[in-house]
Amino acid sequence: MQNKTMEIVEGDITAQSVDAIVNAANTSLLGGGGVDGAIHRAAGPELLAECRTLQGCPTGDARLTKGYRLLARWVIHTVGPVWRGGNNFEDELLGNCYRRSLEIAVKTGIRSVAFPAISTGIYGFPLERATRIAVREVGAFLAKNPAIEKVFFVCFDRHTHDCYQRVLGES
Ligand code: ADP
Repeated sequence: MQNKTMEIVEGDITAQSVDAIVNAANTSLLGGGGVDGAIHRAAGPELLAECRTLQGCPTGDARLTKGYRLLARWVIHTVGPVWRGGNNFEDELLGNCYRRSLEIAVKTGIRSVAFPAISTGIYGFPLERATRIAVREVGAFLAKNPAIEKVFFVCFDRHTHDCYQRVLGES
């Protein structure tokens, strides 16, 4: 799956100049650590105020807010699964996060999206397994939805970046 619409970036997702960045949130949508904390700090308190009105989000689903002080106009908040050994629908739920986020993007007229490596930090999902799911789900979605022009996989560290390079290179 050689696809010019998927690109790997090493860096901070809050600095990305795209229509929407995706937040790896928790079910409360009220902020947390990792990428979630970074996004709330960069977007400012208005983001939390809007999130409070959403009354949470189930695992595997996604919700839309504005981006406030971010360069990105929108934030798509998705809730990845906590890794519990692999027999608790973790793969399906993680795939749903990518698909639901992109469905919301299409509905909103968003053309460029940046994803973090959902669930691979505090939530403990094995990195390579998560990367394969991310690349497969996004690739399949893009093949059917040309309205999305660009998807960036934003990798916060070299290890994650190398894993994405390897997996995308194989496809
Ligand atoms: P989860 O709870 O879904 O595992 P985390 O935020 O703990 O979410 O981690 C998900 C991924 O996001 C990890 O690879 C982590 O290194 C990365 N990450 C943390 N901060 C940022 C950031 N500012 N920009 C992009 N990725 C980030």
